[in-house]
Amino acid sequence: MRGVNSTYRLCAVRISSAFRTISDDAALVIASQVPLCELVREAKEIRAALVGEQADRSTKTEVKIRARMQSVVNWQAAWDNSSKGRWTHQLIPSIEPWLNRKHGQVDFYLSSRVCFRSFLKHFGHDTEDGCPECGSGIVEDAQHVLFECRRFGYDRQILMETTGARVRPETFVPLMLLKEAKWEATAAYAASVLRTLRRTDNERREATA
Ligand SMILES: [Zn+2]
Repeated sequence: MRGVNSTYRLCAVRISSAFRTISDDAALVIASQVPLCELVREAKEIRAALVGEQADRSTKTEVKIRARMQSVVNWQAAWDNSSKGRWTHQLIPSIEPWLNRKHGQVDFYLSSRVCFRSFLKHFGHDTEDGCPECGSGIVEDAQHVLFECRRFGYDRQILMETTGARVRPETFVPLMLLKEAKWEATAAYAASVLRTLRRTDNERREATA
């Protein structure tokens, strides 16, 4: 089971295009991959419900749908109570609308957090975690960069005009789910921000090399 679990996790991580450092819980949500324990529970439930019964196709479908709905309820409770992936939870608090979205591919930039200095410092790739633009004491993490940093004020303004909504952590993903054009605009914003961070990080490395 352990081997299966780690392979399953690897799949989720691959789908979410993230590095392996992303937490399992967040990777599964980003990849819309129902946790393995829930799939096992579903299979058991479906088998138990249909045993000895000459179920027609609609009954089978109904049983499967019910089992999946229960999985999402359980998964949501586990996601709310997990200590991991809290940043992703802030962006994607509700699993169901994320799972059932009709548009939106998750690309590398949307699932990545590797360019933030807080992350780089945590993993020993940088000595500082402060935002180089906004002054000392302000940590360069996802929250700061995407929603507060003055470096990206102009890009945020453009995004706000395109989507017609303020750029905030709690509205970021719901906005993306609303319409494909909003998804594209938001994803483009995140990609642009992270590209800039990566460029800055490379320049810093070259300067100290
Ligand atoms: Zn800043």
